[in-house]
This record gives sequence, structure tokens and C-alpha cells, in this order.
Amino acid sequence: MIIVVRPGASSDQVQSVCDRLVELGYSIHRSDGVERTIIGAVGSPSLDKVEAAEQLRSYEWVENVIFVSRPYKFVARESKPQRSVIKCRDVEIGGNEVVVMAGPCTVESEDQMDATARSVAASGARILRGGAYKPSTSPYSFHGLGTEGLELLRAVGDRYGLAVCTEVMDPRRVDEVAAYSDMLQIGTRNMQNYDLLREVGQLKVPVMLKRGMSAKYEEWLLAAEYIASGGNEAIVLCERGIRSFETYTRNMLDLAAVPVVKNLSHLPVIVDPSHGTGIRDLVPPMCLAAIACGADGLMVEVHPVPDHSAKDGAQSLDLQQFADLMPKARSVAQAIGRSLR
Ligand code: PEP
Ligand code: MN
Repeated sequence: MIIVVRPGASSDQVQSVCDRLVELGYSIHRSDGVERTIIGAVGSPSLDKVEAAEQLRSYEWVENVIFVSRPYKFVARESKPQRSVIKCRDVEIGGNEVVVMAGPCTVESEDQMDATARSVAASGARILRGGAYKPSTSPYSFHGLGTEGLELLRAVGDRYGLAVCTEVMDPRRVDEVAAYSDMLQIGTRNMQNYDLLREVGQLKVPVMLKRGMSAKYEEWLLAAEYIASGGNEAIVLCERGIRSFETYTRNMLDLAAVPVVKNLSHLPVIVDPSHGTGIRDLVPPMCLAAIACGADGLMVEVHPVPDHSAKDGAQSLDLQQFADLMPKARSVAQAIGRSLR
């Protein structure tokens, strides 16, 4: 349940509510907003829930006690007075600025990373992406450069003032990958890898959680709840397309997910039209559509020579195509009252 404290309550008064909740057997999560404090309470209390709510309502500084019927609580919209803004080094995701993350599918070489980062930074990207540990449907495909890839990504990101984001697949490698990155990506295939979710939930590093390719909104938010309930609430959700009966595109990019999930949760939502369509020419128009429907950011695969890309070349923009997209993206952002670097 969620306890909404009246504006102007003293910190002792708020604390007395927290103490009572703990006494009743709840674990609590407190959010202090500008105007009011909201307390999320999860767990099974010693008292009947209705009775517990009744008692809490009797505090004069408690404005309301709301039962949340949804299975997730920490990530629910109601659990926070304001939308979450996630800080990824110096970049804020979820504020007024639409944040663009760009880079190759896979870190391949120093030259490839340097050329990409220099160009996307000049075009206005804020975060450099690139996989060092790559998931792959086939065990025979290239699986990334590993530690060497992490080192390259970090060095090149720093060189051009870009924060960096890369995927972690294995709970045993979380510390290693976190040591090099400003944001950890959990890919579509691992959205339901609960051991991995719990592991990144222990960190203080932001996590970009991609939607599972067959996940419903509720399953996606429950995956985020695993991370948040472990103590890490710095989560950015990423819509990257789901499986459908259509075979023309690689996936079906579900843009309705943006307004729906932003309504259900306080977490920022970004969109990845590269994996969402699998087709280069469809990436720019879907980027513009994503911004128009309220996405807090974009993730775009960019490669200096997409035809030579180790992975996902068909959906990667070249440097010029990305540079051409950015002014249009900026115009759409401005049309809805947002900024884009
Ligand atoms: C990626 O971002 O390169 C990737 C593998 O994404 P997804 O998990 O969405 O397929
Ligand atoms: Mn990719």
C-alpha cells in the first residue's frame, strides 16, 4: 500500500508513520517530494491490511492510504510524487531533455569506436553504446571482445565526453562490466534472468532494462521491480520491439508502450528503433515517432561502415544518416516542448 503524507508534516511525524509500518512488518520505501512525502509499504503485515490502513488513516498527518492492486509497487506511478530522473554520469534521462544514445551494436576496434564516437558526439548524442559481451541466437556467432571491448568503450567515451552504456549478461560479470560503464544494459533475452536482475539490484549503477521480446507490460515492470526492490531504483526502460506474426520487420516496435508504461510507472522510457525494426530506412521515421509519443530518449545503432559491421549492419545508420536524423529529432522534440542536444 501507499501512504500519502499531508504537505507540511514534520519529519518526526513522517518518521512516526514509517516506524509504525515497520512495527507492522512492512518494508518501507520513502520518497520525499517537494510538496509531500509518499511512503510505499510492501510485505505481509502482522495485522489485516484493511485494519492496518484504518490505523494509519487515523494519524492526522496522513492524507490518504491507497491499496495498490498491481503486483509491482516500487516502480508504480503512485509510489513517487514526481517522475524519476535517472542520472547517467552527467546526463539526465527522464527530464525535459530527450537523450540520444548511439553507437555500434558491437565494439569491434579502436578505429571503429573513435570514428563513431567523434561523429555522434558532434551530432548531439550524449551516451555511447556498444556491446563487449554480446548475446547471440547462435553459439557460433561473434560474442564480442569482452574486457578489451569494455576498455575501448570507456576510453573512447571519455575522449569525446560521452557517458557509456553496455550490456551485461552474466551475474558473475556484473562487477566487471559496472567498473567500466555509466549504465548497464540488460538485453531482451535476459529480461527474465532473475538472478541477473537481483544482482544489478544490489548496485548503484543505472540500469537500462530492455523489454523482453515476448513480455507484456506487466512482466516488464515486474522485471524492473526485481531491480528496484533490491535497492537500485535507477532504471530506464527501453522498448525494443516484440515478436509478432509480421515477418517484414525484425520485430514489431510497440510505440504505444511509451504512453502506457509512463502512465503505469514513474520510470523513464526510451525507444530502440534499430532492433525494433531491423531495417535501416525505418529507423529515422520511427525515431521521430518515438519522440512525438513521449519517449525520454532514443537508442540508435550507428556504424562508420554498416555493411562491414560485425552484427546488426542492416539496421545500423551510417555516420551521415545519423547526422541527418538529429536536426529532425530536435525539431520534433521542440514541437512538444522538449529539448534535444
Ligand atoms: C543490442 O542492444 O545490441 C541488443 C542485443 O539488443 P536486444 O537485447 O534488444 O536484442
Ligand atoms: Mn544490436
